[in-house]
This record gives sequence, C-alpha cells and structure tokens, in this order.
Amino acid sequence: MYRLWVSAVKFKSNAGSPAIHTAIAHARMPFPPTSYRGRFAPSPTGPLHFGSLVAAFGSWLAARQAGGTWLVRIEDLDPPREVAGAAEAQLRTLTAFGLHPDGPVMRQSERHEAYLSALQRLLAAGDAFECHCSRSDLAGEDGIHRACLPGRHRPDPAIRLRVPDGSHITFDDAVHGRIEQDVSRDVGDFVLRRADGLWAYQLAVVVDDAAQGITDIVRGADLLDSTPRQILLQRLLGLPTPRYLHLPLVVDGDDRKLSKSLAALPLDDDDPLPALRAAWATLGQARDVLDGSTCIDTLLARAMTTFDAGRIPRAPVDILAAAHNTPVASRD
Ligand code: GLU
Repeated sequence: MYRLWVSAVKFKSNAGSPAIHTAIAHARMPFPPTSYRGRFAPSPTGPLHFGSLVAAFGSWLAARQAGGTWLVRIEDLDPPREVAGAAEAQLRTLTAFGLHPDGPVMRQSERHEAYLSALQRLLAAGDAFECHCSRSDLAGEDGIHRACLPGRHRPDPAIRLRVPDGSHITFDDAVHGRIEQDVSRDVGDFVLRRADGLWAYQLAVVVDDAAQGITDIVRGADLLDSTPRQILLQRLLGLPTPRYLHLPLVVDGDDRKLSKSLAALPLDDDDPLPALRAAWATLGQARDVLDGSTCIDTLLARAMTTFDAGRIPRAPVDILAAAHNTPVASRD
C-alpha cells in the first residue's frame, strides 16, 4: 500500500495532468501513510459507560497528541444485541464530553456492499468457504473449526475464513509488547458471515479500518486476542496493518461481572469532568495535571498536551482507585 501511494505521488509530480494523477493517488490510497488516523468504534448495545470512556478518551488523546485525525464509527452490525436509540445517545455523550470526531460518523449498518465485496474476494481466492457445521458439531473441538464434518447440509451456511496450519501471527502492541498467536491452533477457521446472514465483527472491523484509513488502533485490552485474526484478514485482503495500542481493562475490586460493576454505569452527560479525570487516572496519567480545570475545554487542552502514552498501565485498573485519590498502578 505504502509503495503504491508513493509511486502514485511520484507519477503525479512528473506528469502533465495533475488532476488525473491526483485522482489516481486518491483512488489507490486516499490517506498519506504518515498522517495519524485513529478512531473510536462503539457498539450501540447501551449507553456509553466508564469502560467505553477510557477507550474513547485514550484514542482521542493519542490522535490529538499526534496532531492526527480522530473518527467515530458506530458498530451496529448485530441488531438483536442493539438497543433502540443507543447510537444517538452514545454520540450525544461524546459531544457532552467534548470528544468531537473530525469527520462523518461511519455506520456499519450502511456498509453491506463493502463487506460483501471483501467476502467475495476471499471466496474467489479460496481463502473462505461455506460451512454447514452446527455448533454442536464443533462441541467436541471446544468450538474450534478445523474441517467441516462430512454430509452436513443447511440452507443457511455460515462463511468462514480458512486458517491454514501454522498461521502464526506476531505483532508489537504499544502497551503490551510483543504478542503472538497461532490462529490455526487457538482459534481455527473463524466466521466471516454468520448463518443468520449477519456480518462478523472481525471482517467488518478490518474492512472499515482500511476504508477509514486508520493508522493507529487504540482500544480496550478485551480485543487483544482478536487482533491476530484481524491482521491475518488484512494480509489476505492486501490491506495495511495499523499500529495497535490496547488500553487496560477497567475492573472493580469485587470482581463483579461488568453488567453489575461500577464500570458499566452509564456516563452522566451533565457532569463529564469527574469521569474524564477518572479516565485520565485509569490511563496512568498524572492526576494533578487536570485538578485545576473546571471546564471541559481547558481540561481537554491540558490533557492533550501532557498525555504520555508511556504511562498507560498494562494491568487491569480498579475503577475505585481511578475514581478516588488512590494512585493507579503503573505498567506491570
Ligand atoms: N465495537 C467494539 C466494542 O464496542 C470495538 C471494536 C474495536 O475497537 O475494534 O467493543
């Protein structure tokens, strides 16, 4: 991708018709590879909570500090799990917290054609296949698909990525360091389009990150083990691999399930400052920096200039420690 972009630009500078060559450069690689483009991609399954704020604020801070672009994408791929009005409420919360995207909000529910075309490429290349196995067929293999059972037929097959033996993926996460996964052994052939016709997150996220020209993905560590699958898909689709930074998970001291935890309480749009300060502490940043800020604009401006990604902790952060004046654990 990088080479394509460079050659298109060179071509432009040599040539007679800049307009045409600019169009070529844009068609091939709409975003210069050096400009930072980050994003926040919530699923509209409910109002934004503290855990989502950490991801939104962390990705916003990293993009702002790099002088880059920050985008929002609503991942409304799974209607049965969505809550009516949640996407709009999430966008209102981002506005109330001063986190304004630099471009139009992308919605995955409008991206069917893009996913279909990626799927067709994978099918045509033999990298994807129709799978007639049922969940109970895979039960003996811990739910991992390695080969279809013979003689199965269903009218609504799923489509899976064929993950050949030895599909070993390695990447360097800015917080967690070197991550390695043998996708064939640990995950197997994974679903791209479900039997009910819905698109799988793994395919959609890869197609959309590329379409939005995302260079840097900053998101929660719950997605760390999805990243090797996404890198595998990027390679098969000829898409660039962004840099990754996975933020600490937010837990509470009692190890409650997220649904019962303080971390899952909806954010209060009328009182953003305490939550922003707690998110800042969760990101391992020096808490006193934001102490004197009494309006969002000042707080965000201070946060942007002092943010230090090197302080982000690797270990999960206790929400009670972040919300109160207790020091938050440093990395490790
Ligand atoms: N939509 C996903 C979520 O809300 C996040 C996807 C991503 O950041 O890659 O958990």
